[in-house]
Parts: sequence; C-alpha cells; structure tokens
Amino acid sequence: MSEKISLLKWENFPKGFSKWKLNPTGARLEVKDLGCGAYALLSSIPGVNNTGFVVGEQGVLVIDAHFSVPMAHQIQERIREVTDKPLTHLVNLNYHGDHTFGNCAFPEETVIIQQRETARRVLFMEEEKDFMTPCVDNDPSIFDGVTLRTADVEFEEYYKVDLGGCVVECHYFGPANTPGDTIVYAPGAKAAWTGNVTGGIFGLALETDAIKFRETLKRFIETLDVEVLVPAHRTMVGAELLQEYLVYFSEVTDGVKQAVRAGWSLEEAMDRVTQSKAFSLPPDDPMAVVMTGRHRYNVKRTYLALAN
Ligand SMILES: [Zn+2]
Repeated sequence: MSEKISLLKWENFPKGFSKWKLNPTGARLEVKDLGCGAYALLSSIPGVNNTGFVVGEQGVLVIDAHFSVPMAHQIQERIREVTDKPLTHLVNLNYHGDHTFGNCAFPEETVIIQQRETARRVLFMEEEKDFMTPCVDNDPSIFDGVTLRTADVEFEEYYKVDLGGCVVECHYFGPANTPGDTIVYAPGAKAAWTGNVTGGIFGLALETDAIKFRETLKRFIETLDVEVLVPAHRTMVGAELLQEYLVYFSEVTDGVKQAVRAGWSLEEAMDRVTQSKAFSLPPDDPMAVVMTGRHRYNVKRTYLALAN
C-alpha cells in the first residue's frame, strides 16, 4: 500500500513567498578539496546548486546531478581535472529537478542511488519541469535534453558504498525539506552533503512540517560526527548550524501548538507566530522579507499537520 503522492503547486504557497532563483546559466562549479578523496563543487552563483564527489581506488561517487545537461557535463569535466577513475555511483539528495535532471547525462554504467521516497517522486518529471520553470527565469530551454533516468538502487535508511580505500555513506534520517532527504557522509573528511536540509538562517519544511524536521535533525546530529556541511543552496558551513536549526524548529513547533490550543485560525497563526530575534534579519537586509515568507510557510505546514 503506498500513500498518495502530493506534488508541489505554487497556488499552495502563502503570498509573499519568494521563488528560488536556480537558473544555472553561467554558473561555474569550483572544486574544493575537503581531504580524504572528498571534494565539494561550489557554484559561482549564490543559491544555484552546489554538488560534489568522492574519489576511491576503484571509482568515483558523485553527489547530485544538477539541473541541466550542460551542468551535468560540467560536473564530469571538473571531476576529470582531479581523477580519470570511472564514475561508478551517483546519489541524488532529493527528487527535485535541480538535483536529478542531470542524471540522464551520466554514463550508462553509473549506478544511480536514491532513497525510496525520492525514487517514487522522480517519476513525475514533467510535472517537476513545469513547477521549476519559474525558478529558471521562465526559460524551459534550460531543460532541453533532460530525460527520465531512474534509480538503479533504492534504499530505505542506510546504504554504504565501498569505493576502495574509502567508504561513502548514504543516510536517511527522516523527512526534512522533502520526504526523501538523503545525507551523504564521507567519514574520512567528516563532511556531509546536506542538499536542501540546510538552507538559510533556518530550514524550510517544504513538503513536511517543523515537528518532522526537528526529529530528522535530532537523528542526524546523534548519528554522524560531522565537521563540515556542504549544503545545496548556501555556502559551506560548520555543523553548529544543525543545532541552530533545531532551536528554530522547536520554537515553531511550540508556537504553533500554542496557536492551535488557543483556537487561532491558520491566518492568525501565520501572522502571530513570528520568528524570534535570533532567527530574524534586520529589516533593511534584502533577505529579511524572503526569510519571513519562509517562516510563514513553515508555520502553515506545521499548523495544517497539527490541525489534521
Ligand atoms: Zn535543491
């Protein structure tokens, strides 16, 4: 029995929510050596996807395939500047197009690895292209040549790849931004690729809610010894960010629980359960409005989860 998959629709977003700017045109991926065979690929355009790869004796594991065929090719060009070992594995951190559309441009023999919830959702590729078009300046030609490439390996909670001389771990700690968020962990470098789990000054419970996000973060923090996070859409950061997110999602959970108990409507909850000072930007910061929109979204998702 599989429950129904609900796809994202812009009409369900609260007004004032800023769409992501993910157009990869002109983005250059810079190679950053994290040690022990692990490398981040950092986008020159802020917000546009970072990815990465890990090199072992027998092959290379790639983390995320990017948004388009040219970007998937660029990932492979950057890897070739470091090693000529075969690209044996590719892990998608979530099902969104900016993480998966490049899959089709990797060699046929590359094994595609996805968490089960991600694997179920990549099948809706045409719907995802439509949803993502506003995020690429309404230019659907960005997706030229993108065809569906599905998982060769699906995992539930944990999958380990031995590349020879180094292992890479794929973890599923629960839903956070999407139902199938995967954390790729390179133990040698104590580095974790966190995809959409880590965004701005707090996370976005895009397809989940604050309660689930908090539980996922707790399992992540308890399980892995991490020093550096490579998020998909922000600069690299230390693991302390996870603790800050935990505090934020606890605040949202408590605030919305109180709102439901007090009988506030959804609109009232979104207006009155505001960010605490620690998670607010100065009003003159151009990102302040964006983060408030995201916070209201988190309140909405959490309110609907608690009220149903
Ligand atoms: Zn993303």
